[in-house]
Amino acid sequence: MHNYPELNTSQRILMGPGPSDAHPRVLKAMSTPLIGHLDPEFLTVMDEIKTMTQATFQTQNSLTFTVSAPGSAGMETCLVNLLEPGDEALICVHGVFGNRMSDIVERCGAKLIRVDAPWGQPIDPQQVRDALKTCQPKLVAIVHAETSTGVLQPLEEISQMTHAAGALFVVDAVTSYCGTQLKVDDWGIDAIYSGSQKCLSAPPGLSPVSFSDRAVAALDRRKTKVQSWFLDLTMVKNYWQGAKRAYHHTAPVSAMFALREAYRLVLEEGLEQRFERHHRNHLLLRNGLEELGFTFLVDEPYRLPMLNAVKLPEGVDGVSTRKRLLDDYNIEVGGGLGDFAGKIWRIGLMGNSSTPNHVNMLLGALKEIMR
Ligand SMILES: *Cc1c(COP(=O)(O)O)cnc(C)c1O
Repeated sequence: MHNYPELNTSQRILMGPGPSDAHPRVLKAMSTPLIGHLDPEFLTVMDEIKTMTQATFQTQNSLTFTVSAPGSAGMETCLVNLLEPGDEALICVHGVFGNRMSDIVERCGAKLIRVDAPWGQPIDPQQVRDALKTCQPKLVAIVHAETSTGVLQPLEEISQMTHAAGALFVVDAVTSYCGTQLKVDDWGIDAIYSGSQKCLSAPPGLSPVSFSDRAVAALDRRKTKVQSWFLDLTMVKNYWQGAKRAYHHTAPVSAMFALREAYRLVLEEGLEQRFERHHRNHLLLRNGLEELGFTFLVDEPYRLPMLNAVKLPEGVDGVSTRKRLLDDYNIEVGGGLGDFAGKIWRIGLMGNSSTPNHVNMLLGALKEIMR
């Protein structure tokens, strides 16, 4: 029989588009002995995660929970539960993740209406206003932080026009959550999903989700069954809330322990302080990168603090330089995705990876490599 050695991966410095570095307290929580997922002690953990998710989403929504799968499953949860065959859905696309939402909409049997912006730019609210004159969508969906392009999308104006048109407002906050301002209730967001491995700095594999009462009412009005058994919230919600706590699936107990600790860290730091930290470290990185000849893809007001999309200086090869960063310095940065494959780098400063040390390590390594 083949003798497999004990797992021994390198200790990387994670500065890509996720996962980000996890705090030792999060890793320690993950190695807590298992308990049953219906154990009263685990139900308490679920209740605590729910209130910490509400606090960080800045929402009172009672249907606030965690999907036992990564961010893409949170995306699918929002869309499959709110769309029935024949419904119209208006999807704003300014990168890879808007495209992914569009794909899911079609798989739901809904009618897709797209509003596109050039990659690297936000969606102009006027485009949405014009599109809303031509259709009657059940929902309008948009990505808050487009990780493929580094764009921060303003949401409030589009939210208002969505509600004026009688539609639900659905937001992808996988990368923005816990890294920049995000007010689910004040901004009128009806369904939102995120991921555990970006600015939350927990291990990948969980997706915090929240539905407003309007979204729950739309769910209750469905005439057809939700296409997905696993993601069907009419069942999942009986596991997350209410007295019965009916078995639905076995929760990923260890990942939930880690998520709970990651939330404790976020709340200890404070949301405003955390946003400010992400902004400060982004400016530090920007100054250093510009000195080295890198240029930013996105115009200043729309730049993400946690994901820096940059073009390389003339004469620097992206692939071999990234390989050297990983091989010689243990630093991971992201390459371009979709239209930008091979054209840009995506440097993440997410959650626990947003520190002056991370910035200085990367800049120091780049200086040596580029010398
Ligand atoms: C990472 C990401 C996703 C997908 O999350 P996974 O955890 O990789 O499934 C969706 N949307 C955005 C904006 C992302 O950055």
